[in-house]
Amino acid sequence: MVPVLARLADRFSQIQPSATLVITAKARALQAQGVDVCSFGAGEPDFDTPAHIRDAAKRALDQGKTRYGPVAGEPALRRAIAHKLHQDNGLTYNPDQILVTNGGKQAIYNLTQVLLNPGDEMIIPAPYWVSYPEMARLAGAVPVIVPAGAAEGYKLTPDLLRAALTPRSRLVALNSPNNPTGAVYSREELAALAEVIVAAGLWVISDEIYEKLIYDGSEHVSIAALGPEIFERTLVCSGFAKAYAMTGWRVGFVAGPKPIIDAAITLEGHSTSNVCTFAQYGALAALEGPQDEVEQMRQVFGQRRDAMLEHLRHMPGLYACQPQGAFYVFIDIRETGLDSQVFCERLLDEFKVAAVPGAAFGDDHHIRLSYATDLATIERGMNRLATFVQGLA
Ligand code: GLU
Repeated sequence: MVPVLARLADRFSQIQPSATLVITAKARALQAQGVDVCSFGAGEPDFDTPAHIRDAAKRALDQGKTRYGPVAGEPALRRAIAHKLHQDNGLTYNPDQILVTNGGKQAIYNLTQVLLNPGDEMIIPAPYWVSYPEMARLAGAVPVIVPAGAAEGYKLTPDLLRAALTPRSRLVALNSPNNPTGAVYSREELAALAEVIVAAGLWVISDEIYEKLIYDGSEHVSIAALGPEIFERTLVCSGFAKAYAMTGWRVGFVAGPKPIIDAAITLEGHSTSNVCTFAQYGALAALEGPQDEVEQMRQVFGQRRDAMLEHLRHMPGLYACQPQGAFYVFIDIRETGLDSQVFCERLLDEFKVAAVPGAAFGDDHHIRLSYATDLATIERGMNRLATFVQGLA
């Protein structure tokens, strides 16, 4: 039989698979064959979801929370999210300004779909999380990549933002604490950006998924909290995956102006319907229950970060800034003479260490290592990395 040629939609021709997920799948496939891989690929906590959260979801199952629910989310969870945003972030939303999504990822995807017209521009500071440009393209929009490197502390500045503005600019993506660099914007830095955003009439997606994972006394500030004008222009996106070790549960949310949230709800109604009902009861318990495990996990991540950085300090040719948040180290590999793809391919093939090439984040001179893994793996993997780099010298 002659195979039927699949003709995909034109907009799909430019879309790449998610590098973070591809590398992780590759590492897992090797592990399944019995290969001893040190995986620093996807940012996924290695902890179990806290027991009281799992118990709440089990109870919800037993109570019959197994049916369709409201598309926008369980009312109790929307209320709890509104309360969290008020208490933690100083943001006042009605529960009807909140949409529960299938992970933080769907929150951002839905927003790009409802805010961007073909030809509109979405300003994305680089290094960026892999999925932002692809989501802009899937909406028919143009990702405008604005490099913000080590000299800027890997942060967008008001001057860089101003220089990127055109009449088609519509949306800017901010992510603090940042994936992949761990950079955290200060209140002053956000206030200066907010001024430009308001003056230009942009929308801002503020991806705050790593807000609880913050070190060295840094403070997480939501740009939405910096005045009524920027509040009106901000869509706050977050989720439960990183802080509560709930990656597979797929529960996230977005809060913002009601007309935009209503449009995102309509989109969700036609695409995925509600988020898994009993998973939402786990998320509710995460918000309403004790927070001490979040703090314990944060402290352990901090120790792992320090261990990884200590190894890196002794590897000539590799340079990393001290990340202030999230659980990634972004390493400058320029001096090795390899590009990030070749570096990561060789590191995996020859030394069985999985890392994500910086090219996937818009910077081919870096690689990303996740330290959301145990100290023993960090020790083994960093020794292998050191051997690999010595061999390149
Ligand atoms: N956001 C995590 C990462 O960057 C998980 C994978 C993904 O969704 O990209 O590794």
